[in-house]
Amino acid sequence: MAVIINDTCINCGACIDECPVEAIVDEDDNPTGEELYYVYPDKCVECVGHHDEPACATACPTEGCITWDMPFDSAHKDFFSAGNYVDGKNYVMEDADAEMPFREDVSADARKNRENIVD
Ligand code: SF4
Ligand code: SF4
Repeated sequence: MAVIINDTCINCGACIDECPVEAIVDEDDNPTGEELYYVYPDKCVECVGHHDEPACATACPTEGCITWDMPFDSAHKDFFSAGNYVDGKNYVMEDADAEMPFREDVSADARKNRENIVD
């Protein structure tokens, strides 16, 4: 991973076409059943190699809606299966074994605290 879209999402659609790897789905396709847009953590590349910062967050009009989340790598797989998505649900992945690129300059605390990507 990753970034996460939280429950302040207003389902406006501004983010979805900005994603270079089609990691975002709308509320109808959110595999968790939440009525929010959803980022697949096993698809998000944090825009590494595409943009200077996550393009979804740049496009989002809702402050604090898209935040940092833990890296989707072997060291953090337990996090993604431990009820850490919205409402204590589990994330849903298509490839749980994926190892995704992430921004190493983003601190572990910023990720744990789900800090804003865009100030
Ligand atoms: S950070 Fe980039 S790759 Fe990840 S969901 Fe947002 S736009 Fe897609
Ligand atoms: S741009 Fe932000 S508010 Fe709009 S759908 Fe995406 S995450 Fe939700």
